[in-house]
Amino acid sequence: MIPAQFDYLAPTTVEEALAALGEHGDDAKILAGGQSLLPVLRMRLNAPEVVIDLGKIDSLRGIRDDGDAIVIGAMTQHSVVEHDPLVEEHAGLIHQAVEHLADVQIRHRGTFGGALAHADPAGDLGAPALALGAQFVIQGPGGTRTVEADDFFVDLFETAIGEDEILVAVRVPKHTGWGSCYEKFVRVAHQWPIVAVAATVKMEGGTIAEARIGLTNMGNTALRARASEAALVGQPATEEGVAAAAALAAEGTHPPSDLNGESAYRKHLATVLVRRAVLNAAGA
Ligand SMILES: Cc1cc2nc3c(=O)[nH]c(=O)nc-3n(C[C@H](O)[C@H](O)[C@H](O)COP(=O)(O)OP(=O)(O)OC[C@H]3O[C@@H](n4cnc5c(N)ncnc54)[C@H](O)[C@@H]3O)c2cc1C
Repeated sequence: MIPAQFDYLAPTTVEEALAALGEHGDDAKILAGGQSLLPVLRMRLNAPEVVIDLGKIDSLRGIRDDGDAIVIGAMTQHSVVEHDPLVEEHAGLIHQAVEHLADVQIRHRGTFGGALAHADPAGDLGAPALALGAQFVIQGPGGTRTVEADDFFVDLFETAIGEDEILVAVRVPKHTGWGSCYEKFVRVAHQWPIVAVAATVKMEGGTIAEARIGLTNMGNTALRARASEAALVGQPATEEGVAAAAALAAEGTHPPSDLNGESAYRKHLATVLVRRAVLNAAGA
């Protein structure tokens, strides 16, 4: 289907983009890589009067070292994130998740910020963002604010980004030396995960000193497996110790039922994937 007619704006600065958002309000929609928005427009599930393309704003692209964190510009394509050495060294979970996100063509068009702003609960990036304690840098008419990952995902396709705001970057605290593993369960390669688990653990000797685990497609938003995280602290990285903590992975979750699996199946899958991801991350 062909989208409904809209006006197209291509600002070259964030300030211009914000001014356009302020002027057109509800009638405007931000365009990043278009990999989620364009299908929505073509199916006429949304018909904005104005589309504001961020593609010409150079300051929104790139990855830089910021001391104890790396900063990923919102308009940085998945393919750039995938091959970036800073991401691989300091945020291994994001590196692993992006490697398995969609296919090569989509990774060349889709953006890191666009995927997170879209907030699909089946998206691959929410769980790593939660596990790594990412901070979302959001700019609006009143200036810039930072939102912690735990507060960013509000509901199905809904984030803390206001209607008059733009996600400009994501700050990811370095997890150098932490083990990490992204376990994505799919029926067909390059598909959205049925369930996925992002686990990162800090080992001291043979013991788990700290564990952070994000879950994909286990509710309306990406979630933390907090009960498993708490149970892992102080455990040896053995099959038995990790399995007992992983059995708590679905606590407090409300996964959907669909053609790919029932809710109860997803809950079971989460326990299996958490066990595998944590054991891998711990190098066991
Ligand atoms: C066939 C197919 C398979 C896919 N498979 C996967 C998969 O396996 N895993 C996965 O995670 N993803 C998958 N995706 C989605 C892909 O990751 C997209 O890149 C992503 O969802 C949207 O990013 P985008 O840059 O294309 O954003 P767009 O489609 O341009 O925008 C998405 C939404 O976010 C808003 N937005 C974008 N950028 C900003 C910003 N900076 N500030 C505020 N709002 C913003 C837009 O207004 C829009 O509502 C798939 C997509 C397709 C088409």
